[in-house]
Amino acid sequence: MRRVIAYLTVAFVLLLGMTSCQEQNQQHKVKYVFLFIGDGMGLNHAYISDVYLKYQGQEGLSFLEFPHLALTTTNCADTSKITDSGAGGTAISTGRKTQFQAIGMNRNTGEKYKSIAEIARDNGWKVGLITSVGLNHATPAAFYAHVSWRNMYNVISQQMWRSGFDFFGGGGIITRGNRDSMLSVVWDSLRARDYDVVFNKENFDKAVKSAKKIFMTDTASLEKDNIYYMIDSLSRVSLADFTREAIKFLDNPDGFFLMVEGGKIDWAAHTNDVATMVYETLDFDRAIREALKFYKQHPDETVIIVTADHETGGLSYGYNATHYDTYFYRLAAQHRSKHFLAQYLQKQGAETYAFNSLIQKYVKAGFELPVTPSTRPAAFVHRYIDSLQHSAGISWTTHSHTGTMIPTYAIGPGTEAYHGVIDNTFTFNFLYRQTGLKK
Ligand SMILES: [Zn+2]
Repeated sequence: MRRVIAYLTVAFVLLLGMTSCQEQNQQHKVKYVFLFIGDGMGLNHAYISDVYLKYQGQEGLSFLEFPHLALTTTNCADTSKITDSGAGGTAISTGRKTQFQAIGMNRNTGEKYKSIAEIARDNGWKVGLITSVGLNHATPAAFYAHVSWRNMYNVISQQMWRSGFDFFGGGGIITRGNRDSMLSVVWDSLRARDYDVVFNKENFDKAVKSAKKIFMTDTASLEKDNIYYMIDSLSRVSLADFTREAIKFLDNPDGFFLMVEGGKIDWAAHTNDVATMVYETLDFDRAIREALKFYKQHPDETVIIVTADHETGGLSYGYNATHYDTYFYRLAAQHRSKHFLAQYLQKQGAETYAFNSLIQKYVKAGFELPVTPSTRPAAFVHRYIDSLQHSAGISWTTHSHTGTMIPTYAIGPGTEAYHGVIDNTFTFNFLYRQTGLKK
């Protein structure tokens, strides 16, 4: 009997050993990581976009069909403050909370936090960052920069080219001081570090075939440091364009990490502009579809996470004056962003009385909107579009961020860990564990 027990014990121990080995293999086999950050993209931003697209006879958002989802808290280290993209991005990229508007470090102690992208680089993976805003803006910066304040743009640029990451694509560079001379410093510094700097969509493909490292942007962003809103320029370079190029460039047997930010979802939400926000979310979703194509070829080794750094605008599906009714078709009347419309009216130099007829070139409401006149184009545009949105049954509560929880969507090996309520530091720890990268 004693011998039987001894045999059984040995067999049990062996079995345990095998299972933990298998588990380890299981845990360590993810080597392609896509991290999508919809800046400011709360639950309603995604859901309203989905409803709107389906109303227009288009496909809904791909990531709403991901198998796993967790509600995510976004608070920063300053407990009385709602977070920003600096502290929010840092929590996602490094798994550490920091102060409002700090990036990749603790402003009080000076301690620097290493990001998952830096860890991936140091493990021999290829690394890419993409955004529709400047590549030294807070969210992409959270993956390579360590600064006390997010507005230290020139310092962040230096840390960008020193990161040695393989691929940067997006809305150019934000500068402080003389723009032309700062930009030439940036381009020269990138070139000195083996980057091909590509300004034109036509040259993207060629660079991907021959370059050692790449920084790519579109021509328009050289002047204004972000990509046009999609609603204003449907043919502009898209997040999907950059993502497609990045996948071609980064794909290698050792693995890659790619972060893609829908940065202007947040900007559209700051201006309380629903239709513009929907188009930015659609652009973001098209980039996710590029990652999904890759995922389908490598389902056992690829993880796609779609999250946000915070909610922006306090977007509400439902409005006091429309009670239980919504009229989504009314949103489709708007064909340009608030930003564009304000500039357009400004250029026309029109008198107050003409604003109402002028704006109808781009906003075909088809019915009279109750808008109080204003002599200021921007104020008029805000009232006009707000009135249109309200008539559709949609509203906002703030022009700033909110502290509401945001959803994180996930697909790929191990992503069943995304359930219930998680904190925004969760994703760093998940990716670190699931990839087996070493610090
Ligand atoms: Zn914001």
